[in-house]
Amino acid sequence: MGETRADRLAALVADQGLDLLLVGDLVRPGDSGRDATSNLRWLTGFGGTSGLAIVGPSRRSFVTDFRYTERAAREVGGDFERTTAERELVPAAVELLRGRVGYDDVHTSVRNLRQLEEAIGEGVELKAAGGLVERLRRRKDEAELNAIAEAARLADQVYEWTFERGVVGRGEREIMLAAHQRMRELGAEDPSFPAIVAAGENGSVPHHESSEREVHGNELLLIDMGAIVDGYCSDCTRTVATGELSDEAAEVYELVRSAQLDALGAIRAGVAARDADAAAREPIEAAGHGERFGHGLGHGVGLEVHEAPRLSRRSEETLEAGDVVTVEPGVYLPGRFGVRVEDLVAVTDEGCRTLSGFTKELVVVD
Ligand code: ZN
Ligand code: ZN
Repeated sequence: MGETRADRLAALVADQGLDLLLVGDLVRPGDSGRDATSNLRWLTGFGGTSGLAIVGPSRRSFVTDFRYTERAAREVGGDFERTTAERELVPAAVELLRGRVGYDDVHTSVRNLRQLEEAIGEGVELKAAGGLVERLRRRKDEAELNAIAEAARLADQVYEWTFERGVVGRGEREIMLAAHQRMRELGAEDPSFPAIVAAGENGSVPHHESSEREVHGNELLLIDMGAIVDGYCSDCTRTVATGELSDEAAEVYELVRSAQLDALGAIRAGVAARDADAAAREPIEAAGHGERFGHGLGHGVGLEVHEAPRLSRRSEETLEAGDVVTVEPGVYLPGRFGVRVEDLVAVTDEGCRTLSGFTKELVVVD
């Protein structure tokens, strides 16, 4: 049997000078935030909400409560020893702790940390160790890449379908809801986030909430959406024209598209995430729109639509083979229009493989 995810984590745990790592949501175990459940799902296969895993060089334990015993038996990998807590998860997990134990300080409330501190036995030392599972989640394996590629393909199909049906005269929200439904019909579990449909001046708000505004002719329409397949997300943005554009809008579109291509050309394992960001930011700054590109170049995508690494000016991370990241420069002119072009790519040693397939030529739709 090859190296499991738990093996990789155990090596990292030992590397941090820890004996064990507690994985799961300690804010409200049993009612977890998605981020912490993603860690548990990635590590053990468990898709339920009430679970804790304990991993170290010589331990693979999984604790759930009676509601999830059967589900855990079905889903949790055979390398884990399963326990059902009689009542709450934390006291049951505490029984299994020895030595220096890392806990996820990003997902632990102060109150639960106190409970944990009170419950631990002699000789157990708690250490803040958030982000370890997230670090390993960056390197996607083949099955994960396939799921993400399929989720990206579904979004491509929804773009095609949306534009074929026509957008002028329809409301942003109506277009969003139809896209969600179409995505599910095509086999997605869900949209990976509520699709952003932003017409005209609404496009200048990077995280616009789709409204009742109707799409007019002769303006820009920005649609940012993604699907979930086998638990894995996709994320893509296209900006299209609904007729004739002003010279300025057409120029900004070409600027963003060409900056996006520059960034794609810069992406490769070993490149600093901040240098990839600069590859798109420099031409936008040179055109005088630097102030109008107010977010980072992109972010990792996997079980979460936003995960490590971050691609921005301040990022300290280096791109690695197996990262799946977005490349999404944008220029936003307040109250007027916005352009963003976003692809999802898999980072390789030679460069990157683009998973988003819908054209980036400026498309005119009715
Ligand atoms: Zn997006
Ligand atoms: Zn994105």
